[in-house]
Amino acid sequence: MTDAKNEQSYNDVNNGGSHQEAPPLGAADFIESNWDEVAESFDVMGLKEDLLRGIYAFGFEKPSAIQQRAIVPCCTGRDVIAQAQSGTGKTATFSVSVLQLVDENKPAAQALVMAPTRELAQQIQIVLMALGEYMKVKSHVCIGGTNVRDDQRKLDEGVQIVVGTPGRVNDMIQRQSLKTDSIKTFVLDEADEMLSRGFKDQIYEVFRSLPNDVQVILLSATMPQDVLEVTKKFMRDPIRILIKKEELTLEGIRQFYVNVGKEEWKFDTLCDLYDTVNITQAVIFCNTRRKVEDLTHQMTKKKFTVSCMHGEMEQSERDLIMREFRSGSSRVLITTDLLARGIDVQQVSVVINYDLPGNRENYIHRIGRSGRFGRKGVAINFVTDNDIRALKDIETYYNTQIDEMPATVADYF
Ligand code: ADP
Repeated sequence: MTDAKNEQSYNDVNNGGSHQEAPPLGAADFIESNWDEVAESFDVMGLKEDLLRGIYAFGFEKPSAIQQRAIVPCCTGRDVIAQAQSGTGKTATFSVSVLQLVDENKPAAQALVMAPTRELAQQIQIVLMALGEYMKVKSHVCIGGTNVRDDQRKLDEGVQIVVGTPGRVNDMIQRQSLKTDSIKTFVLDEADEMLSRGFKDQIYEVFRSLPNDVQVILLSATMPQDVLEVTKKFMRDPIRILIKKEELTLEGIRQFYVNVGKEEWKFDTLCDLYDTVNITQAVIFCNTRRKVEDLTHQMTKKKFTVSCMHGEMEQSERDLIMREFRSGSSRVLITTDLLARGIDVQQVSVVINYDLPGNRENYIHRIGRSGRFGRKGVAINFVTDNDIRALKDIETYYNTQIDEMPATVADYF
């Protein structure tokens, strides 16, 4: 199966537009911690000198709550499930751990990190390389939409850390370009997504090719019970670490709604908001690719500058759009749930749900694109009369408050 197909199923799962897919109200999507040791600074974690240097050079001074609790157990080689809200530093949690565990003098692939989208895989590899800047470690990102031969060549040259999406990673394993016998650590970022419909079989396939004693590290902001059940099949007595809601940075994100009444009024509402959100950077989520394209077309016709991205675009185009958005040269990005998870652009302070997400998990992932690492952020939900119940549902489910958007909304950015 190709990655394009993966993403198809990823979007199909999430773009259903039905709120029935969400688990019943009140279902606890949180794991129970069985670990409470805290390392207050990076210095006391017993990390390699060169890694520590990389961490400080990257600008990190103090570990975040999840890093304080999860890095040390990950470095012991035990299986770990870590759950913490988006934007709280999970990427660095596993990246530091993987870099600590890797034997720099051994050329074989020792760690495999998997993520649901190509963009997230690319972002992870960049973070890994930055943190490992002073180490002698090689990594490579294996994602669909790129040249297979290039991947093979790169892997043949010897890389110690491989980051990738399920389709291409499987392909590389089957072609024996990615040799799995020395892999000690297997990381699944956005684990609930990776173990849900669409990806599960491919993940199992990868897992089956790994050594029996491989260490498994799972990370996610959401961890539904059924997924947790699945983890029992392939994890051994995992350390479970949960950063509870109160300790999360979600408080930094103010959530608003605008009652647009009818679907056709959404567009004018967005045009009215454009100048306000363009001050900063904004991500606008629609539930289908078609809608992303239509909205982009409409906005462009009205001379608003917007860029757009979805899973059916060529990878080279997706790369360009991401680069422009990360550099700030494009400021308003219209997209699907393809970018709901993991993507980290610190300047994003506004997320607009042009459509409410099709499932509750993705609400938290989407709005987590703003307010990264404790920054301020604003989420604006466009609701039609038909969406009022779904919005109330989200409020109850996350025990949060979504107020009507004030005219002075920019004060909250
Ligand atoms: P998550 O994976 O939990 O969504 P990320 O790992 O992408 O979050 O981190 C969110 C942002 O916070 C990133 O821009 C990252 O560079 C920053 N960050 C992570 N850990 C620290 C830290 N210890 N100190 C300062 N910034 C951090």
